[in-house]
Amino acid sequence: MDNGDRPSYDPHAIEAARQQAWRASDAFRTPEATSERPRKYIKPSAPFTSGNIHIGHVRSYSIGDAYARFCRARGEDVLFAFGFDSFGLPAELGAIAGKEPPSAWVARCAEHMIGQLKKLGFSFDWERTFMSSDAIMYRWSQWLFLTLLEAGLVYRGSGSVDWCDTCQTTLATIQVENGTCWRCHNPVRLIQQPQWYLRISAYLQENDRRIEELAASGIWDENALASQRFVLGRVDGIELDLESPEGGALTVFTPHAEALAQARFVAISPKHPEVERWTGGSDVAEQLEELRSGGLDRSAREAETMPLVQTGRTLLSPTGGDPLPVIVSPMVDGRFGVTAVLGIPEADRTDAVIAERLLGAPDPTPAEGLPQGGPGAGAPSGDGPSAGSADAPSEDHPPSEDHPSATPASVPAGAHPDGHGREAVRYKANDFTISRQRSWGTPIPIVYCEKCGAVPVPKAELPVILPLDLTPTGTGNPLAEREDFVRARCPTCGGEARRETDTLDCHFDALWLWVPVCVPPGEREQSLEHILGLDDLRAWLPCERVVAGSDSGNFVFDQRTVTKALRDIGPLEFLSEGEPFAGCLFHEMVIRDGRKMSKHLGNVVDPDELVDRYGADTIRLAVLYAARPQRSLNWSDSDVKRCHRFLRQVWDYSHARLALEPDALHPSAEDGASSEGGQTQAIGPDKTEHLRKRLAQWCETAVEKITEDTRELEMHSAVRNVMRLFDRVRDYEKRVIAKRGWLCAEDHEALVQALRTLARVLMPFAPHIAEQLLMDATPGDAELDASWPEVELVPR
Ligand SMILES: [Zn+2]
Ligand SMILES: [Zn+2]
Repeated sequence: MDNGDRPSYDPHAIEAARQQAWRASDAFRTPEATSERPRKYIKPSAPFTSGNIHIGHVRSYSIGDAYARFCRARGEDVLFAFGFDSFGLPAELGAIAGKEPPSAWVARCAEHMIGQLKKLGFSFDWERTFMSSDAIMYRWSQWLFLTLLEAGLVYRGSGSVDWCDTCQTTLATIQVENGTCWRCHNPVRLIQQPQWYLRISAYLQENDRRIEELAASGIWDENALASQRFVLGRVDGIELDLESPEGGALTVFTPHAEALAQARFVAISPKHPEVERWTGGSDVAEQLEELRSGGLDRSAREAETMPLVQTGRTLLSPTGGDPLPVIVSPMVDGRFGVTAVLGIPEADRTDAVIAERLLGAPDPTPAEGLPQGGPGAGAPSGDGPSAGSADAPSEDHPPSEDHPSATPASVPAGAHPDGHGREAVRYKANDFTISRQRSWGTPIPIVYCEKCGAVPVPKAELPVILPLDLTPTGTGNPLAEREDFVRARCPTCGGEARRETDTLDCHFDALWLWVPVCVPPGEREQSLEHILGLDDLRAWLPCERVVAGSDSGNFVFDQRTVTKALRDIGPLEFLSEGEPFAGCLFHEMVIRDGRKMSKHLGNVVDPDELVDRYGADTIRLAVLYAARPQRSLNWSDSDVKRCHRFLRQVWDYSHARLALEPDALHPSAEDGASSEGGQTQAIGPDKTEHLRKRLAQWCETAVEKITEDTRELEMHSAVRNVMRLFDRVRDYEKRVIAKRGWLCAEDHEALVQALRTLARVLMPFAPHIAEQLLMDATPGDAELDASWPEVELVPR
């Protein structure tokens, strides 16, 4: 097409110019939290400093950015900023590979990633960006650790960690590949080691209750709610008090109320507060101690080989059958939390495996619903190397899912023989370890004194500074070898002490990462007591919406838990429901050819390459257009091409129409509309009034739909409706031309008006081109109106 002197679509020039203008006007600075306008804190995920923005980030931030721009255009104050999750193993591994200190590595990665994100034109308030590995930020984690410790919600306990004998180091779960060490490929053992724990169990019941409230609030999407239920792992059933022949009773739980008569044993968690009472004999106590402190083989995590301690004690059957032997097994914890449960082989595959190990002879009749050949179905021995491993019970599936008859509220009356049973709930979610034997993390503010034991560092002395000139090798913890770090004074007695050399897992930093962006950059260096008193926190929290990947369920769950703790302790008292997020959207990932993208498969899409080729607007539009957020996005080049073609057409069409002189118009050859010749000369403006009215109606309907979609973060649908609006505009022109042969002044004004509306509703999804179009469609003497077109909506 001959453009004449009309500008052609040059995404790189347009995007560079718009980004420059946004920088110059500080367009995305967070407004002061004092206005009367509605306020929204929109929280994007905090990226690891992995080195590169990948296409999954582009998807995530395109959704959040579209929503942020939409809210601003609707006259709301928006806080849209993030911090880098820059501590932890991914950064440490990157630094080891790059043979440099992690601090240098994360700084370089963050700089590169920020450059990539800026090129994509995301409207973050960059002044609020932070790195969780900066001392001014990790003092928040240390403060949180001490605050939770004082409240009894952080405690020291003994726990299992993976250990490599060759490398002499503990490993994180992701460093263990098929039971071997990622570095030396030798087998890994589980060992017991003192660890710091976070007591989330204190808030499981409240979290359970709140999930229903969040569901009712309507701005948590189904994926996000499902993730919260999954992490919680609620199991409904009944509990009974079983008498011991020697006196005393134990409360036991089962999800299988209908099968009490088939109970064959009772299993207690080794962490059960009453466990000592049931392990009287000295050899039993010894076995229990071994179970708690000794090494386990990795394979021992499955039912077939999970350790069992037979206590020699029994409890009376709830239905008058044979007495039930009492065993102790860590198997209980991962399925029902710290509790005691009835073992019912007929109703539960794991119980069937345990019963076979206890009682020797396999059950002659295969339990109903068991996979053929499973251990309970007559396999000669349960401890064979691969017995049933493929369908071994997984912590991921609460047994109640396999047994719908055990659903909550509707426990049949007959299931409560002699009135013993009462409805009860257990949760799979459990306290977890927050300490790591690694150097790239927040130092734990504890010192060990020979006289006073473990002593917290006073809050006024925070932060405990991490030496930055460490070069981890993957073997051992270099922090433990730094005498200048380790030597300390005991805050209590003033004597010599040694610092804790474990650091906090970056998951612990994440408990807190949603708060610091609420703090104005000028206040950052202030004391935490001052910061926690700021009105800004009260103004921006709770966060209106989290937009994050669907693998963020654990993060969000634990953030919700800690918010409740800090509400009760005091600092977040103003969040009376203990919920940090009013709404949550979990989007799925970007895949290609139906598979997860990986370098190994060679199917990775490089955002930089795409931006170089098509421009940021095209890529952003394409990831929104291709799938609804809750669905996996199967990458397709044709979606990108289609979105690029759309933007180019909008650009060319708009500029061709803006360049026309009204009333001197002639049918445009490119549209192929055929004039009816000289006879149309006499047709006045009134003859096309109905078409103009219809165009106005189309615009109104489109704006309504796009508003509704964007408000609900259904961006794929919003983008489609923008595309349809463009079709309608062109259709209008064709009809006018069919009627008269050209556009009169009124027709032309209506067309330009519609193009301005199109530009305004395109703005959240392809902001650079949309803003340029709106500027070009606005007469030189008029003020640019980039606000969202007004529309009447049903309140949510
Ligand atoms: Zn190793
Ligand atoms: Zn001391």
